[in-house]
Amino acid sequence: MRVIGVLGGMSWESTQGYYRALNEGVKATLGGFHSAKIAMISVDFAEIEALQQQGDWNAAGDLLASAAQSVERAGADCLLIATNTMHKVAPAVAKAITIPLLHIADATAEQLQTDGITRVGLLGTRFTMEQDFYIGRLEEQFGIEVVVPDQPERDVVNQIIYQELCQGRIEDDSRQRYLAIIDSLHAQGAQAVILGCTEIAMLVSQRDTPVPLYDTTALHAQKAVAWALSD
Ligand code: GLU
Repeated sequence: MRVIGVLGGMSWESTQGYYRALNEGVKATLGGFHSAKIAMISVDFAEIEALQQQGDWNAAGDLLASAAQSVERAGADCLLIATNTMHKVAPAVAKAITIPLLHIADATAEQLQTDGITRVGLLGTRFTMEQDFYIGRLEEQFGIEVVVPDQPERDVVNQIIYQELCQGRIEDDSRQRYLAIIDSLHAQGAQAVILGCTEIAMLVSQRDTPVPLYDTTALHAQKAVAWALSD
């Protein structure tokens, strides 16, 4: 089994989900007492969030590149950046290491393609919903058309991520607001909706809606487990 490297802490609330999913994934395949081999560095999210606000993506890229090198030195055979948003600096991180970076958008898009989804809704931070690093990859490399919520809805989605989910707060009212936005994306022709922020699965799950949901935390972890066990 190969060692899965995790760059976590963005936020730590969702890194817990990665840790569980990686271990459960290995156990589901190998059984018994088997668990995932993991090398993880968890950053201080306050530093990252401040750089996001300042728009200083170069500094954020440097910080994550150096953390990724620590993950590699700790013995990792691949790297997961355990957040969708910070894949904005994935090229800088990938350049700093010699192990492969398993991209969260690729893990998600591969499953969408397998399931025949060609038009998909996307929920995430404002950076993920409004910039090209994520949507462009889905559209250009996988031919998947992406629908995002309108501006007031994006503000709601983004605010709930930072003010509640990243701080471990789960509110019923926010779940209802997310479900209404998921319905509206579906009404605009999205065959499914990507939970494109690693904390969203803490708030909504497939039990809450008939619209197919693609949880990026679960899909990213699943891809890593398959990779680690394919050795
Ligand atoms: N975990 C989140 C994501 O998947 C947001 C936190 C961050 O800004 O990294 O995008």
